[in-house]
Amino acid sequence: MTRFVSLSSGSNGNCYYIGNDDVSFLIDVGVGGRTIRKRLAMLGIDINDVDFVLVTHDHVDHIKYLGSFTEHYHKPVFATKELHRALDSHFCTRGRLYGSVKDTEAGVTSECLGVKFTPFRVPHDAHDTVGYHIDFFGTTFTFITDLGAVTDDVVKFCSLASHLIVESNYDTDMLMNGPYPPELQKRIMNGHGHLSNVQAAELIRAVAGKDVQSVFLCHLSENNNTPELALESAAGALREAGATHILLEALPRRTSSELYVFES
Ligand SMILES: [Zn+2]
Ligand SMILES: [Zn+2]
Repeated sequence: MTRFVSLSSGSNGNCYYIGNDDVSFLIDVGVGGRTIRKRLAMLGIDINDVDFVLVTHDHVDHIKYLGSFTEHYHKPVFATKELHRALDSHFCTRGRLYGSVKDTEAGVTSECLGVKFTPFRVPHDAHDTVGYHIDFFGTTFTFITDLGAVTDDVVKFCSLASHLIVESNYDTDMLMNGPYPPELQKRIMNGHGHLSNVQAAELIRAVAGKDVQSVFLCHLSENNNTPELALESAAGALREAGATHILLEALPRRTSSELYVFES
């Protein structure tokens, strides 16, 4: 039995939990330790039981509290060598991960306490940004947040997983007609920014015929998207792929999602 919960998802802060009774880990620590502790406790999970952390990249919404969390809980922090180098000089983490640094390499599978995880590079405007393919004792996840384009690697790793956590950041019309200045609109859409609902839907359509059992849409923009639009776009992709049996959810921005439990 594997548990998955999103503790917060979006530019206000990102943190995700995967675990069972024996082993568990977080992906990104963009919300405070106290919030993580409370939100896990509401699900009957003790934050002290979290075994390690995977990091996707060095934007503040993903690592704001990584330094304080690590100082407090002393859990190993896995990230690529390049990303650790960036974290070493980042104001949120500088000098605070000492003793917890664990280097990984893009495209290479690492293992911790029996959990296998493979970081793979995605195009995004940070120092080094990775998605993760995770084999949690036979339950497989592919996690991609903060990426500007769907690459061959993204399709490959999404094809290998039962559960997908996929960025569906913006609705193009809302972004183009919204409050963001043109430079910021361009930054988001330039291939190294964020994934639109349409891009996410194309990816979902491409991999829906494989082993996928559930799709979680993450990192929805507060200004340029709504859960309804993101879900409608992804649901259309699942219909076109003849895969309406797949569980589809939009992860909430500021609260925990429900707790999802998978048998495999
Ligand atoms: Zn982000
Ligand atoms: Zn980012």
